[in-house]
Amino acid sequence: MPEMRALVTGGAGFIGSHLVEKLLEKGYRVHVIDDLSTGSRDNISHLEGNSRFECTIDTILNPGIMEKLVASCDIVFHLAAAVGVEYVIQNQLKSIEINIRGSEILFEQAGKAGKKVVLFSTSEIYGKSDVVPFNEEADSVLGPTTLKRWSYAVTKALDEILALAYHRERDLPVVIVRVFNTCGPRQTGRYGMVMPRFVKQALSGEPITVFGDGEQRRCFASVFDVVDGILKLAECDRAVGEIFNVGNNKETSILKLAGRVKEITGSASPIEFMDYEHAYGEGFEDMRRRVPDLRKIGEFVGYKPLTDLDGIIKSVIDFERK
Ligand code: UDP
Repeated sequence: MPEMRALVTGGAGFIGSHLVEKLLEKGYRVHVIDDLSTGSRDNISHLEGNSRFECTIDTILNPGIMEKLVASCDIVFHLAAAVGVEYVIQNQLKSIEINIRGSEILFEQAGKAGKKVVLFSTSEIYGKSDVVPFNEEADSVLGPTTLKRWSYAVTKALDEILALAYHRERDLPVVIVRVFNTCGPRQTGRYGMVMPRFVKQALSGEPITVFGDGEQRRCFASVFDVVDGILKLAECDRAVGEIFNVGNNKETSILKLAGRVKEITGSASPIEFMDYEHAYGEGFEDMRRRVPDLRKIGEFVGYKPLTDLDGIIKSVIDFERK
């Protein structure tokens, strides 16, 4: 088989950098484009000596650069996007611009060139629906447009709709993955994510801040499981034109998570409750539960998450200790 060439937008981010490593391991040639808005050079600096790895620091909003990069690859993994509830709330316009205009530029060019795109979407799309587990065919239940949180889900929903329209009308080969709460080494707590935050707080002896009553539940997945599943989908012809949940379907409450992190780190940090208003500002809506239905990805590529919650927490602790 000839050498495959992958373009990874957002490849200096948390999930992107793990994906790049895995692609290199599998023998791909990899080109990353990242504007380092939330990604970091540290995530990929160890790859710089690899002759099959290249990196361009620029924005995907630059059509000239994107045209060249798309032309010189066989497949695009599109991760460049605004990420994290807190980041989106604080940078609303910027996140709308990157998520919508950035994707449109890419789909147009990949459509013309006939290159496959794997679009990274999000479980946020299901919103506050309480029909768990969330099936790919299920309704999105989003709050009012006046609440900033929902703009993220709306931009990603439009990305999906755009991708499907390009697929139907312009022959874009696209696979859409809805990534559920994913954790592991290199994830930063700076943009709101709970796992690296709790681990950092526990290791430094600061209070572990649980928002709301802590009874809201999430399913945490290991980035290694998630990347494996997505790579299998990328190489599966039958997956083109389809949407897949990817993550882990074991639920835990945020309060329980705080307890596990405290216990595994052996930390003396107190667990403290904090109002949502205090954490995110006025008028914030959170969802109580978010569980992926993993049957479809299981049927298509035999996906099964292998890492349990304690394993994930330990991998984050190891990373933060370093
Ligand atoms: N959360 C928390 N303390 C924090 C950060 C987050 O209790 O310091 C809560 C947050 O309100 C949410 C859950 O943890 O209910 C997961 O938050 P995250 O931002 O990681 O992902 P989300 O599932 O909201 O996209």
